[in-house]
Amino acid sequence: MNLESSKLPSHRLRLAIQKSGRLTEKSLALFLQCGLDFDLRKDRLVNECKNFPIDLMLVRDDDIPEYISDGVCHLGIVGENVVEEKCFSNPHKNRDSILIVRKMGFGSCRLSLAVPDKMNFQGVKDLEGTRIATSYPMILSQYLKQARVEAKIVELAGSVEIAPSLKIADAICDLVSTGGTLRSNGMKEVLPIFKSQAVLVRSAATFTPELDLAFARLLQRINGVIHASESKYIMMNAPTVALKEIRKIIPGMEEPSIMPLGTNGERIAIHAVARETVFWETIEQLKAVGATSILVLPIEKIIA
Ligand code: ATP
Ligand code: ZN
Repeated sequence: MNLESSKLPSHRLRLAIQKSGRLTEKSLALFLQCGLDFDLRKDRLVNECKNFPIDLMLVRDDDIPEYISDGVCHLGIVGENVVEEKCFSNPHKNRDSILIVRKMGFGSCRLSLAVPDKMNFQGVKDLEGTRIATSYPMILSQYLKQARVEAKIVELAGSVEIAPSLKIADAICDLVSTGGTLRSNGMKEVLPIFKSQAVLVRSAATFTPELDLAFARLLQRINGVIHASESKYIMMNAPTVALKEIRKIIPGMEEPSIMPLGTNGERIAIHAVARETVFWETIEQLKAVGATSILVLPIEKIIA
């Protein structure tokens, strides 16, 4: 890394994201929704934001926890699995140097034990004396220790799923989201051992007041975008007598706005923010209690 760009400025936040991979697009989309304007060039390690005191560092995801612990950057977006492996489950690392600020709502996956389809697997004890291939030796060894199972961990940097067919392992411990990769390699997922999604992490070191302020502003924007993406604005007309029932049906509803329709008091218009996903089942339940003209709208920003 170029030394000049690795010097941490005291007046601009530096945030590391994955340069190229599963988390890159979603991280960049989030910054765009937060109103951050980057003139992004992937061949540049540090990319300045034009309208906010923040710079983006584009790196390999595995290096992000280390960069934060070492004070190369203040913040990062990375899979919780990587933070757990590189910091929290690693006895040689200072786990207090990095803090998880919030979950990001994307990059969901799980680290799971998987075995060849033909293996009759009853429980973790069946792995006693086997060889397990993984890129997550720290998380796996902690898990096996707690389960009191002795197995040989075969550490591989990638393509872990082919290890059993190469006869270098009997089982694997790898990231799974849909399970498609496992199935196409003749493996079955048997035990999830760590649930993960992308997280925003920060250095535990104290920021200057200037950086503290920038971080608070950034976090407010991120929170606003994430809350909004999980929420919907619902409008409907309904019989006045159904209001109590409707309050129970709408997921995570905050205090709704209620307006009378006409003058006889029989019908009302209800406008509300639902803080959780609105499923078709919810709409059907609303119709069943007499709601009509139901509109479910996306929300762009929510600032509390
Ligand atoms: P890099 O070149 O940055 O080291 P990588 O190959 O290690 O990239 P990716 O495969 O892009 O990383 O995965 C990045 C993160 O995406 C993972 O650490 C994990 O948190 C998340 N993820 C979500 N679903 C999956 C999946 N099915 N397989 C692997 N990772 C997943
Ligand atoms: Zn990686």
